Amino acid sequence: MNFELSSEQKTVRETVAAFAEREIAPHAAAWDREAFFPRDLFRRLGELGIMGMFWSEAYGGAGLDTVSTVVALEELSKADAGVGVTVAVQGLSGRIIEAFASEDLKRRCLPRMATGEWLGAFALTEAESGSDASSLRTQAVKRDGAYVLTGTKQWVTNGGYADVFVIFARTGGPGPKGISAFLVDRTSPGLSIGRVTHKLGIRSSNTVDVILDEVRVPAERLLDREGAGYKIALAQLAAGRLGIAAQAVGILAACLETSQRYALERCQFGRPIGAFQAVSFKIADMACDLDAARLLLYRAAWLRDQGKPVVDAASKAKLFASTAARRHAAECVQILGGYGYTTEFPAERYYRDAKITEIYEGTSEVQRIVIARELLGRLDERTAHDRPPSRVAPVRPPSSPDVTKVQN
Ligand SMILES: Cc1cc2nc3c(=O)[nH]c(=O)nc-3n(C[C@H](O)[C@H](O)[C@H](O)COP(=O)(O)OP(=O)(O)OC[C@H]3O[C@@H](n4cnc5c(N)ncnc54)[C@H](O)[C@@H]3O)c2cc1C
Repeated sequence: MNFELSSEQKTVRETVAAFAEREIAPHAAAWDREAFFPRDLFRRLGELGIMGMFWSEAYGGAGLDTVSTVVALEELSKADAGVGVTVAVQGLSGRIIEAFASEDLKRRCLPRMATGEWLGAFALTEAESGSDASSLRTQAVKRDGAYVLTGTKQWVTNGGYADVFVIFARTGGPGPKGISAFLVDRTSPGLSIGRVTHKLGIRSSNTVDVILDEVRVPAERLLDREGAGYKIALAQLAAGRLGIAAQAVGILAACLETSQRYALERCQFGRPIGAFQAVSFKIADMACDLDAARLLLYRAAWLRDQGKPVVDAASKAKLFASTAARRHAAECVQILGGYGYTTEFPAERYYRDAKITEIYEGTSEVQRIVIARELLGRLDERTAHDRPPSRVAPVRPPSSPDVTKVQN
């Protein structure tokens, strides 16, 4: 077992951390205050190879392994979690294009996305379908060799600036098998950007409604085949969840750094507040959870790189990292006292940013459903007479109690 990053992975961390410290961190408070989307920053991240790090060099990407991509997302999110999610969604949409689009579309989109000239978006959620994404209602009707899309997609990250959208719509009956995925250009007639969402945190990211009013999408822009949309969304889910776990780890790392620095500098009762156990124990707990969240994250990323099953590991990483980020961001504010509650310090921004990591790419409740299903099977689909899942050894009552053994 090896807990060291490789020299390439360390280089990714150092390069992205140096860029983030220089080009992102000094502006994060202003971008948050003004809800400013730093469009030009993503061209510079493109020059660095970060916007296309998720896909292969054949399509202009950097072809980094998953561990490197989560390390990079962590460093970006440590400086500004809004920037982190923008890049994570570029990865989500780019990976789908690489895996499921035609050769022509890959050559057209991916090199432009890699330079940061184009941004991608992923549009699954609708007003009435969030966790239950398979109940989406946007329609794709086949007409004259094309599909005509009608509906409204909600909370599309990057949507206001995206050049290409992966859009999920219904080509068949109800349920997951009736869903297909399409690659749609921003310039398609009938596609417009609706309401901009005003958010609690990650305010430097862009979140909008996307309105589809009889948008004609050529048949070659159907990804994979009719009815494969839900499978496509699920296939990318684990990688997407790792992106959000990395965002949470980045926020947590920022909380630890801010808390450490403040605990050493701030003096009350004639000594640094870090001398008080009530403060130092909070920081110790924060450091433990940061380590644990990182280990879960890197293990899941490593499993994906080995081609091993990752769904369960990705859910555990996201659940743990997001819960820890939200909890410790609150403690970071507490350590900074009244100053933590003001915009003079970044603690209140971490507190607001951390919350979203428990909600998108599957809420914490949904992650628990995934983890529990791995342990117990799909109990909601079983009757009392079904046999237990084969991976669980039956619990046998002892034939006669052994009274010589001490119970504890
Ligand atoms: C800032 C932001 C950016 C986003 N970006 C994107 C994007 O780019 N693309 C995209 O497609 N979507 C995006 N989303 C949508 C996001 O993925 C959903 O908000 C999320 O999946 C939850 O769906 P919901 O908000 O409809 O909540 P709901 O599904 O309505 O859930 C409400 C509550 O009920 C709980 N719940 C629901 N079902 C169950 C269950 N079976 N068991 C137990 N509890 C349950 C949930 O955990 C939650 O606590 C974004 C959302 C936000 C806020």
